[in-house]
Amino acid sequence: MGRLDGKVAIISGGARGQGAAETRLFAQEGARVVFGDVLDDLGKKVEAEVRELGGEATYVHLDVTREADWQATVRTTLTRYGHLNILVNNAGILIRKSIEETTVEDWDRIMAVNAKGVFLGTKHAIAPMRRSGGGSIINISSTAGLVGSLDGSASYTATKGAVRLLTKSTAIQYAKDGIRCNSVHPGPIDTPMIQDTLNDPERLERRMRRLPLGRVGTPEDIAYGVLYLASDESSFVTGAELVIDGGTTAE
Ligand code: NAD
Repeated sequence: MGRLDGKVAIISGGARGQGAAETRLFAQEGARVVFGDVLDDLGKKVEAEVRELGGEATYVHLDVTREADWQATVRTTLTRYGHLNILVNNAGILIRKSIEETTVEDWDRIMAVNAKGVFLGTKHAIAPMRRSGGGSIINISSTAGLVGSLDGSASYTATKGAVRLLTKSTAIQYAKDGIRCNSVHPGPIDTPMIQDTLNDPERLERRMRRLPLGRVGTPEDIAYGVLYLASDESSFVTGAELVIDGGTTAE
């Protein structure tokens, strides 16, 4: 028996990295998954892999900044699989610049993907989840949504802080509908997003000094936390922050 048997999930940013790991794990645990991204070729590959292993997943083109794309994604989900129980707002970008280096265009772009994208996904998932008798929304924030960053990603921290509190408002406003909403706060995870750090020995060494468990995380480290929040095992958990960071923020 799978931990998500009978459930239908939408995952944003699922073509690679953590979103792809969550898509694979959710399908393996019995969910039917609609996952979207702007990287269509990679997304279709992940879809084929899941299906080869006997899972059920459908890739859609989803630019999380576009409301029409979210509406189409929800429509596809309901047409193909009949209902919606889980939303993982995972898509995100990183612009590694100090406040002085950040342009207005950088600010608007990162806010659009990392904050507006989560708002739009949540907005359009609520009604179908309510009709399903409830649901679980998981928003991927970051340790950068908990503490400030010295290492030059000021706009990124602003977006991830926004995600953290949008999560709590969603949890409070929709608890009456049986809809839970929690945030996940990864530390450094080995995905394309932070290859610049992983390939720069000096920067990596600086980062490792703030990593008590002594290693960078894997996409699966995060996917298992997200799986817990998506499943009924976490039915009393809402408005919470799940930190998965190798101990970084404990210091
Ligand atoms: P990643 O870059 O591998 O994956 C991000 C995915 O989001 C990509 O597939 C990308 O194409 C997609 N995406 C970007 N813009 C999009 C848009 N407009 N519409 C739809 N999809 C879009 O990085 P990842 O590590 O897998 O990131 C997943 C989430 O985890 C992000 O929200 C990121 O901010 C967060 N996070 C990552 C780390 C880390 O160290 N990797 C740490 C903390 C939090």
